Amino acid sequence: MGGKWGVYRRGERWRRARHRAWLVITTPEHEVVQFDGPVLELMTDSRTRFDRRIAALGQDILAPEFDEQRFVARLRGDDPTRGIGDALLDQRNLAGIGNIWKSESCFLAAIDPWRAVRSVTDEEVLAIVGAARPLMERSAETGGRVVTFEPDRPLRPGESRTMVYERTGLPCRRCGGGRIRARGQGDDNRTTYWCPECQG
Ligand SMILES: [Zn+2]
Repeated sequence: MGGKWGVYRRGERWRRARHRAWLVITTPEHEVVQFDGPVLELMTDSRTRFDRRIAALGQDILAPEFDEQRFVARLRGDDPTRGIGDALLDQRNLAGIGNIWKSESCFLAAIDPWRAVRSVTDEEVLAIVGAARPLMERSAETGGRVVTFEPDRPLRPGESRTMVYERTGLPCRRCGGGRIRARGQGDDNRTTYWCPECQG
């Protein structure tokens, strides 16, 4: 991995120096900036259909044509002993969920992210994805902010409100009895946050 994406309101100050930006996508309200990436490749729509790396990617979780059964079939072809939290991050299974939404959506679906893929039912997997999609759509609209707790309360500038992400040691917002735990998961050791009390 390398580089970093930033999402800013138009006119907002970027958090990295301008000369480090090498791709800027501008919409009427936002600027999406890629900083310091290792490789930038632009290709035509027709070429993307023949690119093996793109063909190897799972479906985009935010695509309007997202096909749940195709996603489940792909996940079932993956290593069944892998933790579901780890498998969700694998872009060959599903493109776009990312580390924050992995933890937040497993929590919202009340699924323990450490359970092996083979022990998670299709319904449970789809519950996780179903929890993530509307929140990610909303996040895309609000400039990348993560709000899974009290989503209707307005955000202060720079604020995110999560259920488990970066809440290590704090009381669970759902059951009150559990304390949020954090541990690296999978080959890439990406931190997973979860409540050991109410995620089964
Ligand atoms: Zn809990």
